[in-house]
Amino acid sequence: LSDRLGGILDKLTKRGALSESDVSEALREVRRALIEADVALPIVRSFTDKVKHRAVGAEVVKSIKPGQMVVKIVHDQLVEMLGEESHPIDLNAPAPVCIMMVGLQGAGKTTATGKIARRLTQRDKRKVLMASLDTRRPAAQEQLKVLGEQNEIDTLPIIEGQQPVDIAKRALNAAKLGGYDVVMLDTAGRGHIDEPLMVEMEQIKAVSNPHEVLLVADALTGQDAVNLAKSFDERCSITGIMLTRMDGDGRGGAALSMRAVTGKPIKLIGTGEKSDALEDFHPKRIADRILGMGDIVSLVEKAAEAIDAEKAAEMARKMQKGHFDLNDLSEQLKQMEKMGGMSGMMGMLPGVGKMKKQLAAANLDENMFKRQMAIISSMTTQERAKPDLLKASRKKRIAAGSGVQVAEVNKLLKMHRQMADMMKAMGKGKGKGMLGKMMG
Ligand code: GDP
Ligand code: MG
Repeated sequence: LSDRLGGILDKLTKRGALSESDVSEALREVRRALIEADVALPIVRSFTDKVKHRAVGAEVVKSIKPGQMVVKIVHDQLVEMLGEESHPIDLNAPAPVCIMMVGLQGAGKTTATGKIARRLTQRDKRKVLMASLDTRRPAAQEQLKVLGEQNEIDTLPIIEGQQPVDIAKRALNAAKLGGYDVVMLDTAGRGHIDEPLMVEMEQIKAVSNPHEVLLVADALTGQDAVNLAKSFDERCSITGIMLTRMDGDGRGGAALSMRAVTGKPIKLIGTGEKSDALEDFHPKRIADRILGMGDIVSLVEKAAEAIDAEKAAEMARKMQKGHFDLNDLSEQLKQMEKMGGMSGMMGMLPGVGKMKKQLAAANLDENMFKRQMAIISSMTTQERAKPDLLKASRKKRIAAGSGVQVAEVNKLLKMHRQMADMMKAMGKGKGKGMLGKMMG
């Protein structure tokens, strides 16, 4: 795909705002990539619609090509749709916390049960009991028992002929009596979704009241992903998803399908047959994988850098002219917060040593950035452009609006004045230098 997309992207060398045809052309390739990655068709459609909405008319910064811009928007939208960075298993409930594993046969439920139990035991120091409720597949219960022995995790003793619901009850009881923190129920699947399976899951759920219901699904699940996730979610309201076989060559499009259709987080991924092949879900990595292109990743990074650099240069230009109002300060605070502190943005400006010291003296920590941004957003547009307007009564209003003391508003205004003065002085002093270079 990267070649094809790259080719199209190269053609889009116009500058300015992205036109509908720029975006449509790039999106045709994106759509194909998503389908190749096994993303379900309805999800592909809603995804590309969202991207289109976001992309058409978006300004393209000077230093990157419009195509790169589309790619960045596609990537950002994908990451956003895949969900936040980390979703740990939630054990915030009275012990024994019950985790119920559901999914089709062969999805990797039993393996996943062992993996999660191992992590909870070894890393999180929890006492875990595993129970197999799979009375359908021959030797399924022994499979879990062996996993338990290998990883030194207790399993519920097997009683031949006992039915799943009764095993669940027995497991909960044993977990309570045995002082376990967590009890994991590994259920039986079917080759496909059918009514008896769903009824069984509902019954097990009713007697065990699980705190987590994890849907285990093969990353290779294609168009079925939507149906699968929807059915399990409707009937047993899942709390999260684990995607297995991410070590294979599947692109993991099922992640997007299942997340989009249920809104439930992907919590974990399985990356091998062994019990330690368990990883947290990272939306960025999956997004890269779904788009399936190494060079797209670097394209996206380049675009993001270019956008930041462009903003910084724009700011520097203004500063040099001695123009630096509170809008600029707010923008700068945002950038600083994003870059994790002082070094990034200010590092691009001349005379930075002195300023760094000054700002350090003002104790600019991350929370302070947030508070200061809150103060600025409590101001009117007029006030931001003309800080001189800010007399006592306005300051009081702003302080109340942003939940701080008036003294803090004053401190911010003083800092802004100092910075503006400094920038003016620097602008006059060294006409060109680093700034000149930066702006080409
Ligand atoms: P269940 O029927 O849902 O309980 O599925 P199992 O846990 O028995 O797994 C079925 C097969 O898939 C077994 O051979 C597992 O070793 C394999 N398997 C499970 N998870 C993974 C994974 O993340 N990667 C790979 N490569 N194989 C896996
Ligand atoms: Mg099993």
